[in-house]
Amino acid sequence: MKMLSLVVPCFNEEEVLPLLYKELCSVAEKMKENEFEFIFVDDGSRDKTLEVIKSFTEDRRVKYISFSRNFGKEAAMLAGLRAAAGDYVAVMDADMQDPPSMLPEMLEAINRENADSAATRRVSRKGEPPLRSLFARLFYRIFNKSSGLDVKSGSRDFRLMTRRMKDAVVALPDKERFSKAIYEWVGFKTVWLEYKNVERAAGKTKWSFKKLFDYALTGVVSFTQSPLKIAEVLGALTFAAGAVWGVVDIILACVSGPEAVGYQPIIVTILLVGGAIMLLLEILGRYLAQMFKEVKGRPEYIVRDTNI
Ligand code: UDP
Ligand code: MG
Repeated sequence: MKMLSLVVPCFNEEEVLPLLYKELCSVAEKMKENEFEFIFVDDGSRDKTLEVIKSFTEDRRVKYISFSRNFGKEAAMLAGLRAAAGDYVAVMDADMQDPPSMLPEMLEAINRENADSAATRRVSRKGEPPLRSLFARLFYRIFNKSSGLDVKSGSRDFRLMTRRMKDAVVALPDKERFSKAIYEWVGFKTVWLEYKNVERAAGKTKWSFKKLFDYALTGVVSFTQSPLKIAEVLGALTFAAGAVWGVVDIILACVSGPEAVGYQPIIVTILLVGGAIMLLLEILGRYLAQMFKEVKGRPEYIVRDTNI
C-alpha cells in the first residue's frame, strides 16, 4: 500500500477548512487502495484555524504544525514537506482552488508516464483582477528569459511528487524560497495537467498586490543575475554618452569659444552618471540583502505546537 501525504498551508482559513476536510475524506474514500496523511500547517493564523484543525485530529490521518507567527506560504509549504512521510506528497491550497478531486488523475499520470511529479496549471484566470493577470503573465515571460528556467504561466504550487523529488526540493538550502522555480530547478520528469480556474470556496485571498510583488522579486533575485547586466549595460551607455558629449563640447569650445558651451553639459552629465550609479546601487542592494538573509541562516519558521 502506498501512502499519500497532503500538505495544506493555512492562514486564517477557519471558514473553508471544514469544507476542505470533508472533500479530502471523500477523495481518500475514492482512492481506497492508498493510505493518506493530511498535514495542515497553521501559518500563524489569527482566527480559529488551529482550533478547527485540532477538531479533526480524532482522525489519526490528521497531522498539524502550528507556527509561532505568520511566516508566509513558502515557509508553511516547506514545514509540511519536511514532515511528510508518504511515498507521494502533494501540496495544495486550503481554499479548494486546487481541486483535491484531481488527485487520482495526478497519481495516475505519474504512474502512467513514469514521471516524478504531476503539476497543474490554470488555463483561465477568470475571477482574477485583470491587472494582476497582466503582471503575472509579464513576470513569467521576463523571469523565464532571464533565468533560463521554464516556469509555466498559470502554474500552481498544486502538485503531486514522488518521495525522491520531494526530498530534492527539501534539500535545497534556500531561505528565501520561490517554489515554482525550485520545482523546475531540481529537474525530474513532470506531467502537466490543465484545469479552469476555480474561485475560492470561502474567505478572502491572503495575498495583497504588494506581497505578490515582493514574492516575484525574491524569485528574480534567487534565480537570475540578469538585473545586474541591465546596470552594466546602462552604466556603459551612460558613460559613452558622457564621453561623446565631452568631445563635442571640446570641439565646440575650440570653434566658437567657451561661452558657447556654458555649464549645462556638466549638469546633464552629473544627472546621467548619478542616475546610473543609483540604479546599480539599488540592484546591488537587493542581492546583498538576499545574501545577508541567507548568510544569517535564520530558520524559515518557528513551530509552536504540533502533533507530529
Ligand atoms: N497562505 C499561507 N500563508 C500566507 C498566505 C497564504 O499559508 O501568508 C496560504 C493560504 O491559507 C492558502 C494558500 O496559501 O491555503 C493560498 O492563498 P490564497 O488562496 O489566499 O492565495 P490566492 O489563491 O488568492 O493566490
Ligand atoms: Mg486561493
